[in-house]
Amino acid sequence: LSADQEAERIAHLLLEALCESFQMGDQTIEMGASIGIAISPDHGTDLTALMKAADLAMYKAKANGRSQVCLYDTSLTAAVEEKARIERALRQSVERGELALAIQPLICTRNDAVVAGEALVRWNHPVEGSILPDSFISIAEESCLIIQIGNWVIEAAARTLARWQAAGLPQRLTINISPRQVERPDFFSHLRDTFASLDAPLFMLELEFTETLAMRCSDAVMVGLGALRAQGVSIVIDDFGAGYSNLARLKDMPITRVKLDSSLVADIDSCESGRTIVSAVIHLIHGLGAEVVAEGVERREQFEVLRALGCDVVQGFMFAEPMSEAEFSSWVAERSNDLYVVQSA
Ligand code: C2E
Ligand code: CA
Ligand code: CA
Repeated sequence: LSADQEAERIAHLLLEALCESFQMGDQTIEMGASIGIAISPDHGTDLTALMKAADLAMYKAKANGRSQVCLYDTSLTAAVEEKARIERALRQSVERGELALAIQPLICTRNDAVVAGEALVRWNHPVEGSILPDSFISIAEESCLIIQIGNWVIEAAARTLARWQAAGLPQRLTINISPRQVERPDFFSHLRDTFASLDAPLFMLELEFTETLAMRCSDAVMVGLGALRAQGVSIVIDDFGAGYSNLARLKDMPITRVKLDSSLVADIDSCESGRTIVSAVIHLIHGLGAEVVAEGVERREQFEVLRALGCDVVQGFMFAEPMSEAEFSSWVAERSNDLYVVQSA
């Protein structure tokens, strides 16, 4: 065996020994461990360097799931450095005014009306150009940066809604909310204060939470959401079907709409069992008194199936990609002109 293989063999033996349950009084104790391995001299020649490398490997092992063994390699350091680089740049993005909102319309399947726009954050990096949220939201969520970014999004949404109200554009706007944000005790008061200070119509706002967050949130958050709902704010569950849902809990939540995870929508026009599942999920959501949204709709065939199954609202590249506020306003105006022409023809 090579040194790597020998170390991994020993690590697996250690895991086996550690994972064996044992008795403590009348309780059975189960233990687990994640093991990272670093080998001298390849991964370091002093204790500090070796511990650092083993630590990175241990975090990788943890990320891979329970009770794993992971051997250090240089890509781990590169990934950490890349993350640190993004985090440093992201820290300044708010002050430097590098964030922007792109807005994508949600459309009613019955009358073609624009139900709302979803605000999706963009980072206009001075060197790298427009960066999509998938490359930075999770990094922001691991640090406290998501609070700063989330607050920026709330304020930007309030400004947009105030502008739309002043322009006589009665359009609702949805924003995405991260777990870390709602966990803060001042989340609800801060949201209200921001809207009040900018004279923005709170009742035109919609908050989107992932299914996982909805299942985990505290009673205090549920009460806060209920109060917002009573004021006209829509509460939307995002990515439904990607995680685990407790129906009893879902029934108690003040939900306006539920968004099917795009994985449920992707092959709906070609997969019979997919259609059966979506049909059942739509009935279930309607049973809860909420509307169903399908996102990631790219083809007319998907749209036709969704409409036939009773889906209420659709969103996707088939209708429009996320766009700037100005583009969104003209898109809505043009569309309502077209609709008027069709209806009066
Ligand atoms: P999401 O909330 O599920 O947003 C939908 C994503 O699907 C968006 O990607 C959107 O551009 C994309 N999309 C829309 N229609 C289609 C389609 O027809 N086909 C395909 N393939 N994709 C489509 P985006 O803007 O890159 O956002 C990714 C994720 O980042 C969002 O997923 C959301 O989880 C997160 N995110 C975006 N903005 C914010 C924010 O302000 N705060 C927080 N916490 N998260 C945000
Ligand atoms: Ca969303
Ligand atoms: Ca989603």
